[in-house]
Amino acid sequence: AVPAPASARKPILQLVGVRKSFGGFHAVQGIDLDVREGEFLTIVGPSGSGKTTLLRMLAGMDSPSEGNITLHGERINDVPPNKRPTCLVFQSLALFPHKSVGENIAFPLKVKGVDAAARKARALELMAIVRLPETYHDKNVMKCSGGERQRVALARALAYDPEVLFFDEPLSAIDYKLKKTLEKELKDLHRETGKTFIYITHSLEEAMVMSDRIGVMRAGKLVQVGTPEEIYGAPVDRFVCEFVGEVNSIEVTRGADGGWSGVDVPGAFKVQPPRGSAGDGGMDRAFIVIRPEYMRVLGPGESADNRIEGVVYNEYSLGSRIQYQVRVTASGGGEKVMLVELSRSRALPAGADARVTLGWDAPDAFTLRS
Ligand code: ATP
Repeated sequence: AVPAPASARKPILQLVGVRKSFGGFHAVQGIDLDVREGEFLTIVGPSGSGKTTLLRMLAGMDSPSEGNITLHGERINDVPPNKRPTCLVFQSLALFPHKSVGENIAFPLKVKGVDAAARKARALELMAIVRLPETYHDKNVMKCSGGERQRVALARALAYDPEVLFFDEPLSAIDYKLKKTLEKELKDLHRETGKTFIYITHSLEEAMVMSDRIGVMRAGKLVQVGTPEEIYGAPVDRFVCEFVGEVNSIEVTRGADGGWSGVDVPGAFKVQPPRGSAGDGGMDRAFIVIRPEYMRVLGPGESADNRIEGVVYNEYSLGSRIQYQVRVTASGGGEKVMLVELSRSRALPAGADARVTLGWDAPDAFTLRS
């Protein structure tokens, strides 16, 4: 059977008005959130935004100063970590260095009093789930690579058979290529186990690849929760918008005739109504935001709702894509840099100082209040 979409599932963990203060400092400032059963929820935000503080409360290592956390409707504010059906996978992994892979994985079972034969059988099953070869069962864990140790830590977390798994930046110390592999494996593991995953990271890229939903934190507050598409394509404000990727933004004002004209870049522009608003949302000043991959370079005879003339002065290879920096004339005679990203197959002819016409259709941009 196809699992129910995450949006249709019932909440497992609920936070209402959760705050955490240290002395006079408010690290988490009033969070309301429903975590749905079986979802992969990632909390992202810059350093110091309160992610770890939030996770510590969810995992039971700290109690909220105010508000309530409930699991299946039961208040768990002060329930210690080992009395919760949850398990935390740390960045540092916290494996037992002198023990074998199998002993590390089976540790939670040993604590529960499971006998040696059953422990080994379960450890081998879990090793298969995290794709560790059987031959690793007796290998010393310190002789494993970073990525393998990561899998051991995951298998051990699964041995607790928790309902919710928390991940605190587990991939931050791993090289790029392995990280990409592990991201995909973690996503597969989530699907295969059907458990609820709550994942914390600085890296939006990680969040985008794996999550059903992403929550963005800023200064102790959860400023937006949504699917990766919603966070990327319909950010609620400039902070989220710029946190989740590069943007071009043009400030516009509305004239007496109702049309919009540029403040920082001269010209008349067609503006998309702000998300969730009828008409222009009653604004008379706003930012048009265009992601670099939605900006087009118009060929002769090609049209678009909006266009700006510019000069290419830099290009960067992003692998399969190329990013161009294009200078356009700003209001008052200065210059403003616009970013354009094209797939390599549509690369512009080489050469700096090429004049180009940039264009985008209004629905390919979004509008934020000024
Ligand atoms: P990072 O990504 O750098 O780990 P974070 O988003 O996880 O950051 P937190 O570790 O939750 O942020 O910290 C949020 C704020 O709360 C920071 O300003 C931090 O200094 C403060 N803070 C966290 N724990 C304590 C504590 N025990 N006592 C005092 N201040 C704390």
